[in-house]
Amino acid sequence: MNEGMMTQGERQMNFGPQSSEDRGQGLYYVHTLGCQMNVHDSERIAGVLEAQGYRPASQEQVEARDLDVMVLNTCAVRENASKRMYGTIGKWAHLKRLNPQAQIAVGGCMAQKDREQIARRAPWVDAVFGTKNIEVLPELLQQARVRQSSQVQVSDQLSLFPSDLPTVRTSKTSSWVSISVGCNNTCTFCIVPAVRGRERDRPIADVLAEVNRCVEAGAKEVTLLGQNVNSYGYSMGDRYAFPKLLRACGSIPGLERVRFTSPHPAAFTDEVIEAMAQTPNVMHQLHMPLQSGSDRILRAMRRSYRKDRYLSVLSKVRQAMPDAQITSDIIVGFPGESEEDFQETLDVVEQVRFSSAYTFQYSPRPGTPAALMEQLPKELVQERFERLLALQERITQEGLDAFVGRDVEVMVSGQHGRRDENTHRMTGRERGGILVHVGVPEGKSELAVGDLVTCTVTESGKHFLVADPKPERGQTYVVQH
Ligand code: SF4
Repeated sequence: MNEGMMTQGERQMNFGPQSSEDRGQGLYYVHTLGCQMNVHDSERIAGVLEAQGYRPASQEQVEARDLDVMVLNTCAVRENASKRMYGTIGKWAHLKRLNPQAQIAVGGCMAQKDREQIARRAPWVDAVFGTKNIEVLPELLQQARVRQSSQVQVSDQLSLFPSDLPTVRTSKTSSWVSISVGCNNTCTFCIVPAVRGRERDRPIADVLAEVNRCVEAGAKEVTLLGQNVNSYGYSMGDRYAFPKLLRACGSIPGLERVRFTSPHPAAFTDEVIEAMAQTPNVMHQLHMPLQSGSDRILRAMRRSYRKDRYLSVLSKVRQAMPDAQITSDIIVGFPGESEEDFQETLDVVEQVRFSSAYTFQYSPRPGTPAALMEQLPKELVQERFERLLALQERITQEGLDAFVGRDVEVMVSGQHGRRDENTHRMTGRERGGILVHVGVPEGKSELAVGDLVTCTVTESGKHFLVADPKPERGQTYVVQH
């Protein structure tokens, strides 16, 4: 699941129920752009701030801009990353005018990339810190207060694994656990290696200890995070470390669901497929980036697999797990993409039938090799994008429609959005990761976050399912608290 597939609730930090007296060192708010990696880093940012006595602002305080510290955790991967970042900190300048004591900090991938440039372009920013030195944030804020000037500290070396930092978890029932940081690949469109550095793996015992701590603290679901989870362990000389980790997660009592992201098609081995299929609490969900269906373009992207390899991995996945929900990332209009290349992408999409795909139009990321290649005309890319989107939307909808009448097991994560509030439904994800809005049948008690409910799907929507089961008509509604 990437940014486009997360709900607002899954992206947002928990707001603290703060009274106006309970400000500690000051009230903070973290605004996160980007992927799960960033959302998880924001949990660490909150952790280091709270360890120094800062308190989370309540939703009302955020809305009223009654804040002492605002942190923007930026993303360099998405289109217009720079525009998004400067746009947000530009808006926050207003807060400084209202409250000159309030501080603004910028972290994440754009901070890692642009460093001093941020403080030059936006001198009202108090602190700039990188992805590898989150722990310095409270000190930078303190120095900025004393010196009355912007403090920039961006480290290129990872001194502390972010997982060793204190954390404030967004959800008590679903936790993210990072297994590695960085990436050793060199995809020509991607800025990640430049901003996150080479891959560093955590020892398996550390990962399992953290998973156990999450479960002891109430988590029922854990998502293992890495830029390329399949190469986990290679740096430690153990190429079977990832399937071993999945199997080890299978014997943790109380851990109901294990997910992971992102795998890489090149290193997706039979051992991983077997471990997924044979470990009951590992969900049959796979976010497998395709990027392009054309070998020529995959080569230009410097992706180390080819279409046949991709299709053969997924065919083995489907054989071992016929219920697997497979999602993907696809780039349209990469430099040099011809109509034939694009057709090959469409063919793969038709064959694989992704349950959903995050499709985006190629746009150059400064600092990447592909940014220097000759670009395709915007209108052509737009036209291809629309064709791909229409195809994927049809396949997604057909997949969702096929769920109607079937029973799914949903882990409740809360109420998301106005629709849930109006209908009194609760939302969660089924085992394959699809969003399901569940209505509680009359006479049944309320659902709580973390409950597992098996229910009959009664309707399919655009990118979600609805389960309003009527047990009196033989439909299923069974809750496991
Ligand atoms: S595998 Fe490629 S796209 Fe993914 S993070 Fe590494 S360099 Fe970027």
